[in-house]
Amino acid sequence: MPRTHATLPRLHVEPDLAEGAELTLGKEQSLYLAAVLRKVVGDEVVLFNGRDGAWLTRLTSDSKKSVTLQLVERIAAQTPPSDLWYGFAPLKTERLDYVIQKATEMGAGTIQPVITKFTQVNRLKHERLVANAIEAAEQCEVLSVPEVLPETTLDRLIDGWDTERRLILADEGEASSSPVEILSALKGQKIGLLIGPEGGFSPEERERLRALPYAVPISLGPRILRADTAAVAALAVIQAIIGDWR
Ligand code: SAH
Repeated sequence: MPRTHATLPRLHVEPDLAEGAELTLGKEQSLYLAAVLRKVVGDEVVLFNGRDGAWLTRLTSDSKKSVTLQLVERIAAQTPPSDLWYGFAPLKTERLDYVIQKATEMGAGTIQPVITKFTQVNRLKHERLVANAIEAAEQCEVLSVPEVLPETTLDRLIDGWDTERRLILADEGEASSSPVEILSALKGQKIGLLIGPEGGFSPEERERLRALPYAVPISLGPRILRADTAAVAALAVIQAIIGDWR
């Protein structure tokens, strides 16, 4: 898909986007555009809201408190949100921000923190995770912001799992063989990916996960990857083999 308007700032907004509408931005986004980017009346900005595609807009006011934007034209039709579910055991703060941003850039549609026995953190600031997903979505030009769910536990996850969805389990204990064939066989199916914590899954958790009928254990190679590396590596492999090419 050819990229258009790549040099313009892209902002996620909540309101509906339609022909002729005029939007007034909140303080934070107004300050960002008028003060940080020094945008002035007449400058162009791209807006998206996850429902109405991407819209080219033009500043009609460059007040640092409340920038107003006139919608000019839709420049990209809305694409369906990604169906790729991504579960991970939360990491410490800055690497947690990193993992949320990378999962968004790699096309996850649902981001689910999963507390496991060896998970390092338990209390998550949900609004911070959402802000990271929005910031990454703005930067990587997706048209939908992935849904970041409140943390759950491995037990609750398994109890509530949609058994139609295959769960790709990044397992460093899996025999080190290429996941290409295993993943190719999942093409067209609903899939999720689960990455364990820095300390790994406990033996009991790993055994339980591998025994699930919908589990698909894969190796990411002979090296033990850090959890945030494994997340990006696994998502890249999955997207390369059965991903959202259009
Ligand atoms: N148990 C590891 C630490 C876990 S690594 C150790 O012995 O130190 C963190 C997570 O990244 C794992 O739970 C797994 O989901 C994933 N991971 C790391 N290396 C991997 C590999 N080579 N293959 C598949 N998954 C891997």
